[in-house]
Parts: sequence; structure tokens; C-alpha cells
Amino acid sequence: MQLLKIKNYINGQYLEAQSEGEILNINPATNEPISIIPISSNADINQAVSAATAAFPAWKTMSHDARFRILNAIADQIESHAQQLAEAETNDTGKPLWLSKSIEIPRAASNFRFFATASMQFASESHYNPGQNINFTLRQALGVVACISPWNLPLYLFSWKIAPALAAGNCVVAKPSELSPTTAMLLGDLCTKAGLPPGVLNIVQGDGPTTGSALVSHPSIKAVSFTGGTATGKKISSILAPQFKKLSLELGGKNPCILFDDCDYEKTLNELVRLSFSNQGQICLCGSRIIIQSGIYDRLKKDFVKRVEQIKIGDPLDPDTRMGSVISEQHKQKVLSYIELARQEGGKILTGGTTHTPQGRCSQGHFILPTIIEGLSPSCRTNQEEIFGPVISLIPFDTMDQAIQIANESPYGLAATIWTQDLKKAHHLAEQINTGIVWINCWLVRDLRTPFGGMNQSGLGREGGWEAMKFFTESKNVCIQYS
Ligand code: NAD
Repeated sequence: MQLLKIKNYINGQYLEAQSEGEILNINPATNEPISIIPISSNADINQAVSAATAAFPAWKTMSHDARFRILNAIADQIESHAQQLAEAETNDTGKPLWLSKSIEIPRAASNFRFFATASMQFASESHYNPGQNINFTLRQALGVVACISPWNLPLYLFSWKIAPALAAGNCVVAKPSELSPTTAMLLGDLCTKAGLPPGVLNIVQGDGPTTGSALVSHPSIKAVSFTGGTATGKKISSILAPQFKKLSLELGGKNPCILFDDCDYEKTLNELVRLSFSNQGQICLCGSRIIIQSGIYDRLKKDFVKRVEQIKIGDPLDPDTRMGSVISEQHKQKVLSYIELARQEGGKILTGGTTHTPQGRCSQGHFILPTIIEGLSPSCRTNQEEIFGPVISLIPFDTMDQAIQIANESPYGLAATIWTQDLKKAHHLAEQINTGIVWINCWLVRDLRTPFGGMNQSGLGREGGWEAMKFFTESKNVCIQYS
């Protein structure tokens, strides 16, 4: 089979990288190579940054209406190429095709559509002292910014950064994960078709140590918006902090889900399956520590295990498949090593715990059965470290204070869910839990205007709505005295 050659998109054109090597991109569901990715070098980054710098003066002064029309047209292009994009996403990542098609690609389009309107609506404050002076705030585009995204929700998270950066008037050099390069490459052509001027968005392909490092270290980059692992976030931070550059970090999580005896049992059970194992547990917002009140613990455990054992796992192209493969052989080994660690730490595997081998074209793929563990101490490594796979741990509690203590016993602080019909309890917990996002009786409900991000080791800053527009602009106060 002819392998697709992944190219950079610079100054509105697809270019071969002046690469420092190549990576073979493997479809993890079949374990077959599908494309070759260049490891773009300093020279490629320089070229992309130069194109962005040249495009910046015209883009930042373009009328809001014209910018709105272009970003909105990109959303249209994504929607009209949804099938092609969804297939590319699934082939790169092993996730079910229905998931790519019904959720992820539409959400990428809605990111562009939402921030297209934000470019029309964004406004700044004024502070008026009657008879004396008036201050007004200019919020100006930063210049050339870098957007770096991970493999788990490729186009969705890529567009979540790029769209606000462009809407605020910046030019962008963006890098997708080396494990999911294809939809990012396809986006280039869609931007051209939508009328985005050359150089406004440049997409460079490659790995973290060479391409990603060169991008964040480039002296002309004014800000970096990064989503990925906490360890990578630390590295990037250490490069940017001494240069006082703006940095937004969306990092890992170890999300608590607190289930009270008085929850709406059937709804909670349904959502529990979804929040634990969607996208093979590879969503930063998936629950991983399921903290259950003792009155429903045994019943819920039994029903949950039964439901999870019915999940159809296998070929991502089969419309009945609910779980596909994990992202790679290497990631499969990492997840399996955590299951082994859980055993050593005294955990009991209630279901799963092993790989899965489907029949047919996916027999060589990297599948792991959805795994539920109980009997682990809240402070053990399995309950403290991010696994980022289809593995969750059940932890019982008696009192609300215990639940809060267990939930907060984590270096992370991304997202929590609380399941109770007692609104007083829910409000109290929402105040007490140390995460950037709290969902009550729901999970992954999305409103693009809300702040998105985590505390502590889960990141720095917030994305979404005005938070993103503010991150991608510099505020300047102007004071006029007239007294
Ligand atoms: P990763 O940190 O390995 O890679 C993320 C991106 O950073 C990739 O594009 C990679 O090439 C690049 N990169 C790696 N090293 C770099 C360096 N030194 N300099 C610059 N760029 C570099 O993460 P991953 O494995 O792709 O993604 C999984 C992680 O992402 C998990 O920890 C998950 O929780 C996290 N995540 C967080 C959120 C969130 O919103 N908080 C969302 C999705 C995923």
C-alpha cells in the first residue's frame, strides 16, 4: 500500500519539510503503517514563523466582519468534509468512526463557528471618572503564536486553540501530535478554500523533542497555547518562563466522580459507563477515581461491571463498536503496566485487566478491555497517577467530608463530577472540590463560553470564550485626562 506523505502547510502551500528524519504513522487498530511524518526542523519552523510574521499586519487590521466570514467559512469546509476528516481521525487514532463523525469533527467545526462570532463580539472595558478622565483598554493581537495539541481529540483540540488565536487577530504556527497528523494536514487545504490568507495559519508536523521544542523556543513566538502531558508542560514552562512569554497549559488529570446514595441511579449508571470509557478512557476529562457512597456501593459495582462487560470493543469502522483501540503499542504497554501495578498494590480486578484480540482486520491492533479495579487505597500510585486509558478504580466512602478529602487527595485538579439529587450537597461540594471544572449530574456538557482548564498539575490558565480571547491579546490601558 502507498503510504501517505504528510507535509507541512506553510504560507498557504503544502511543502516538504527540511526534515530531521521521519516517523512511520501506524493505524493502532490494525497495526498497519498509513503515512510518513516528517520531523520538521528549525529551518521549517523559521520558514513558518516568517510566513506568519509577514501575514500579521494585514490579518490584525482586517475588519471583524471579514475575519468572521473567513473563520465561519472554515467551519463550513470542515462540515462539508466531515466524512473524510472523520475517517482520517479514526485511522490515526483507532477511535470508533461514529465518535469521530458524530462528535469530534462537528465540534471542531463549532469551535471555528463560535470564535468567528467572538471576533465580532469581543469588546474591551472603559473606566470613567466623571469630570476628570477616562481610561479605556485596548486588547491587541499578540503577533505570532504557537498552538500545540495532543493525539486524543486531534482536530477538536487543535481547532480549540487555533480558532480563538486567529479570531483575536494573531497569526499562528501550529503543531499537531506526531501520532495524529492527518486531519491537521487536511485542515490546511480547507483554510485555503475558505479564503484564509497565506501565512495566517501555518501547520508544522513533527515530534516533540525536535519540532515542538524548536517552535516554543523560537524568539518571535509571543505566546504558546499547549495541551498535553504534565511533564511536557513543565518542560515548555521552563523555556518560556525566563522569557516572560504568555503560556496557557492544559495538562493531565485524575478526575474524581463522587456518587452519592441519593443519586438518580439509572441516569448515573448510564453516564458512569460513558465518562469512564469514552474514547477508550483517553479523554483528559474522563473519570478515573469513582468515589461511591457505601449505601449503593455493592449494587452499583455489580450493575456497573455488568454494563461494562456488554461494551462492544473492536473494529472502529464497525458502527456497533463502542470502544476501539488505544493510541499505540507503547501506550498499550503503559496502561498494562498500571494494571499490573494495581495488582501489586492490592487491587482486585473486577472486570477487564487484559488486552483484547478482535477477529479480522484488527487482529494485530492495540485493544485493552475496559477495566474496573477495587480495593486500592486512595493514596496509592494507581489512584494518584494519570493512566489515560480504559482503567478506573472504585473507592468507597461514608460521609461527605470523606468524599471531599478523597477527591482532593490528588496532585491534579482538572474536572470532577458529582451525582446527587440534593442540591445543597451539590453546591457545597462544588465549592470544596479543587478542580477547574465541576459537572453536577452530567458529564462533558459543553458551553463554549465557559472557562475551561485545570488547577495544580492540571495546568495554568483557562481556555474557552472570553478567557481564550483575553489570552490571545495583550491589554493596554489608555488614560485621557480632560479636567
Ligand atoms: P504529550 O505531552 O506527549 O504531547 C502533546 C504535544 O506536545 C504533542 O504535539 C507533542 O509532539 C508535543 N511535545 C512533546 N514534547 C514537546 C516539547 N518538549 N516541546 C514542545 N512540544 C512538545 O501529550 P500526549 O501524550 O500527546 O497527550 C496526552 C496528555 O494530554 C494526557 O496527559 C492528557 O491528560 C493531556 N490532555 C489534556 C487536556 C486538557 O484539556 N487538560 C486535553 C487532552 C489531553
